[in-house]
Amino acid sequence: MNLLIQNGRIIDPSQGMDCIGDLLVADGRIAQIGGQTSRPPLYNGATVGSPGGAGYCRLSVLQAQGMIVCPGFIDLHCHLRQPGFEEKETIASGTMAAARGGFTTVCCMPNTNPPIDTEAVVAQVQKIATTQAVVRVLPIGCITEGRSGKKLVGMSQLNKAGVVAFSDDGNPVWDCEIMRQALEQSKILDVPIIDHCEDLTLSRIGSRQSAVGSPGEGWGTIDYRLSTIDFPAAAEEHMIARDIELARLTGGRLHIAHVSTAGAVELIRKAKIQGINLTAEVTPHHLTLTEQMVITRGTNAKVSPPLRTEKDRNALVDGLREGVIDVIATDHAPHTEADKARSFNQAPFGISGLETALGSLMSLVHQGEIDLGTLVSRLTYQPAQIIRGSGLTGSLKIGSAADITIFDPDARWTVGPDRFASRGKNTPLAGMTLRGKVMVTIVAGVIAAV
Ligand SMILES: [Zn+2]
Repeated sequence: MNLLIQNGRIIDPSQGMDCIGDLLVADGRIAQIGGQTSRPPLYNGATVGSPGGAGYCRLSVLQAQGMIVCPGFIDLHCHLRQPGFEEKETIASGTMAAARGGFTTVCCMPNTNPPIDTEAVVAQVQKIATTQAVVRVLPIGCITEGRSGKKLVGMSQLNKAGVVAFSDDGNPVWDCEIMRQALEQSKILDVPIIDHCEDLTLSRIGSRQSAVGSPGEGWGTIDYRLSTIDFPAAAEEHMIARDIELARLTGGRLHIAHVSTAGAVELIRKAKIQGINLTAEVTPHHLTLTEQMVITRGTNAKVSPPLRTEKDRNALVDGLREGVIDVIATDHAPHTEADKARSFNQAPFGISGLETALGSLMSLVHQGEIDLGTLVSRLTYQPAQIIRGSGLTGSLKIGSAADITIFDPDARWTVGPDRFASRGKNTPLAGMTLRGKVMVTIVAGVIAAV
């Protein structure tokens, strides 16, 4: 069935387009796009051609007045947990959460069990996705076997099998020589190396988390600040600085995961000015929340890297607006309620973020911190450029796959984790009202979520 989306505000950064208009989808692709005046009368009716006659096709019409119509969101960083941790998430539940959040493509991190470090596991993920996913799933492969940091995976074979990037996410690539080799390979294969930048000798290895109480035990800002000592800004910035030097040495394709500090933004800014080949991402939670959330939301605000200060948050927003940070990625990290019910020290890191991403990010637009076109670009065209080998365009150009997100920029809704499609109900936003809601997500011309 073909689809006409009428009277929406079409924002497509890939074409510099922001206008009220219509979008015609035929055979899973964008067939026409443009302002209303250019709309041929042919499409006024609900059908094209006469029934049974040549050129006849059924046409569904979607009224999108007051809505934003844009390319489908692409998430470069999420955890779907399958295989191995299905109690936290499955490819079915995670992609349904993605569709509800407006994401038409998700790149899934390889810290599964078994980890995605062989062609067989890549094939296993792809096979499950073929039958159970409602959006596109692109696997990310490990950089090292078993994410152990010791031996490079067969990057070329994994890339041929369909892996769009490499990461040992959760761990940094500790060994400089291994990271150097990975970057050298990335240059040949033209795929990014996504590094979780954390100097473990400054963070977990020298853990001081015992200094932190748990909720109800006299928590306060100062206590939480002690917990951020565990992952100080220096631990992130030191590793980013090293990676920049290795990118300079190799000319490889470096992508920095979940940037969280003002200092990191400055390092990346300087490296880009020097022409070093790197890109960076930031999460919705680091853009919109600060460490204060831990006081009231406890383990549901425990994330790695940690939520930081308002000064850091401001620097991240500036970096995103200026293009120092290229993309927004959710780092969707679902966990069970039992996991997050443990003490602050023992609970795992992560926020279930796919379904709240747009709603929280729109607060930046409503507060005037970023404009809508920039936001859409960082969720669509920019991530597509980073995984360009996948063939995704992040665009509504005629002929592109019809991956489309339609959202209401003003609709208010209350976050109810019980209603999440994700198995992970771990959000610090429970009960909060967000302004901005995804209404329809279309993947290859098919409605994946309404
Ligand atoms: Zn990470």
